[in-house]
Amino acid sequence: MLELGERIKTIAIELTKIPSVVGTAGEVEIAERIYDYLGQLDYFQSHPEQLQLLPIKGDQLGRKNVLAVVQGKKTAASKCLLCLGHIDTVGIDDYAELRAYATSPEALKEKLPTVKFSEETLAEIASAEWIVGRGILDMKTGVAALMVMVEEYSQKAEQLEGNLVFIGVPDEEGNSAGMLSAVQDLAEMTSEKGWEFIGAIDTDYTTLRYPGDDNRYVYIGTTGKLLPCFYLYGEETHVGEAFNGLDANLLASEVLFQMDLSTDLCDIADGEVTLPPISLYQRDVKTEYSVQTANAVNLYFNYATHVSQPDEVLAKCKAKAISSFENVIKRLNEEYEKFCSLSQIPHQKLPWEVNVLTYEEMYYKVKAEMGEEIDVIIEQATRKLRDKKVDDREFSFAIVQEVHKHYSDKNSKIIVYFAPPYYPHIYVKDDDDNGKTLLAAVNKAVSAAQAACDYNIVTRKFYPYISDLSYCSIANADSIAKLTENMPAWTRQYTLPVQAIQSISMPVVNIGPYGKDAHKLSERVCTAYSFDAMPMILYKTIENLLVKQEKN
Ligand SMILES: [Zn+2]
Repeated sequence: MLELGERIKTIAIELTKIPSVVGTAGEVEIAERIYDYLGQLDYFQSHPEQLQLLPIKGDQLGRKNVLAVVQGKKTAASKCLLCLGHIDTVGIDDYAELRAYATSPEALKEKLPTVKFSEETLAEIASAEWIVGRGILDMKTGVAALMVMVEEYSQKAEQLEGNLVFIGVPDEEGNSAGMLSAVQDLAEMTSEKGWEFIGAIDTDYTTLRYPGDDNRYVYIGTTGKLLPCFYLYGEETHVGEAFNGLDANLLASEVLFQMDLSTDLCDIADGEVTLPPISLYQRDVKTEYSVQTANAVNLYFNYATHVSQPDEVLAKCKAKAISSFENVIKRLNEEYEKFCSLSQIPHQKLPWEVNVLTYEEMYYKVKAEMGEEIDVIIEQATRKLRDKKVDDREFSFAIVQEVHKHYSDKNSKIIVYFAPPYYPHIYVKDDDDNGKTLLAAVNKAVSAAQAACDYNIVTRKFYPYISDLSYCSIANADSIAKLTENMPAWTRQYTLPVQAIQSISMPVVNIGPYGKDAHKLSERVCTAYSFDAMPMILYKTIENLLVKQEKN
C-alpha cells in the first residue's frame, strides 16, 4: 500500500506545479495534462474511446472535464461507481511576494518560513511530513489518488463487476460549471448504456474539526446550503412623526435577531448538527441621507442543511418572519403607549398588522390582479438587469421589488424568497440498497485501514464543506418546485440540471487527504494518513463495491 502512496505523492506534486486557478486558462491545461497522463496507460491505449475531454456546455473560457471509464469485464456490468475530483484551485494572491512560489512545493517550503506563522505551523512547514503549496491539499492530492486508482483498476478490469467512472472537473471553487455540465454528460451516458450509478467517491480535503483534534475523518454524505432571503417593506415616515410609520430597518433587525445563529434552526440528522444560519447581507435601499425612514431592506442568510428540504426551510423562515413581525408590532404598541402617556396625548392602538408572504404567494396575488402583464413586466426587468450584469442576489431582490411595485397591497410586509446558489445535502441512510451498500463498503475499508495505523479514523455523516458532491443527488420534485417558485432568478439568471441530477441520484462519500489551512498560504498536506491510510481506504472501498469477494 505504501507504494500506492508514493505514486500518489509524486503525481500530487506534479499536478500542483500546474497552476489551475479557477477562471484561468490553467484549468484547461490541467485537464489536458490529466488526459495525457491517463492516455499513456495500457488500458486507454487499447480503449481510447473510454477517455475523453468533454467541453463544458456554454463555457466562455472553453474549459473541459476529463472523463475516464474503466469498464468491468466480469459480467455485463451495469453498475457504475463515480470517482469525482475538482482540478481547479482558489487564487494565489494571498501568497503576496511569494506568489511566484505558490505552486512549487519544494521552493515554497524554503521561502514560507519568512512569513510570521505560529510555532506549530512553522514546525510543520519545516517537517518532511508536510508538503506545502496552493492546491496540494484542496485537492490535487485527491485527484492524484483517483488517477492512481484508475491506473490500478484499469489493470484489473477483468475482475470488476461494475464500471469505474472518473471525472475531473474545473470551476468547483467558482460556480460548479464543471460538475453541472458533467452530470448532464453522465446522465446521458448512463441512459444510453443502461448503466446505473451506485455511489460517488470524492477525495476532497479533510482537516481538523476543532483545535487539538487528532482524528482523521471519512465523511459519508454531504452538507447542503440554501440562501433564504427576506424583503422587508415598511411604511416610511418623517422622523418628526416617528410612530406614523413602520421602519423597515426595525423589521429587518428583528428578523436578523431571530434568525442569526439560532440553534433552533440547526439541521440535525443522526446526531450531526449543522451550524445555525448566519447573515451574509443586510442593506436598505436608501442611497442618500434624508430624514425619511427606510422603506425597504434586503436581508439574507447562509443556511446549512442535513435533512431539511427547500420547502421546509422556506416554512421555517416564514414562521420566523411572522414571529418577528408580531414582536415588532407588540414592541411598537408598548412604546407608543408609554410615549402617549409621557406626552399626555390620547392613545390609540397602532394600525400595523402581521403581513408575511412567500414570493410565490405574492406573485400569484399580483397575477390575479393584473394577469399575464406581470410576466411581461418581469421579462422586461430581467433584460435590463442582465444588461447591467448584476449579481444573482441583486437580481433576485430587484425582481421581488418589481413584482411588489405592482401589488395593490402597499402595507408593511415581509416577503420570504430564495436566491442562488443552492447546494443540495445528501443524507446517506441504510434504508435503500445503494446507501446500505456504500455504508458497509466504507465501514469495512475504514476498519481494515484502522488496524494498520496508530491514529483514529472516524467515519461521520455529512462532508462539512460546500462542494460539488452536492450535485450527485437532489430533493424530490415537490420540494424543488417550492424552491424554484420562490427563487425569482430561477431560469432567468440561474438554473441547475435538476432532471439530470435526479436521474443519476446516488449516495456519496468523501475519502480525502488530511491537511491544514486550505485556501490559506500555509495550505499543506500531511504525508501520514494522506499517503498511507487514505489510499488504502480508497482502494478497499472501490474493491468492496466493484470486485466480487471470492468466498472461501
Ligand atoms: Zn476542494
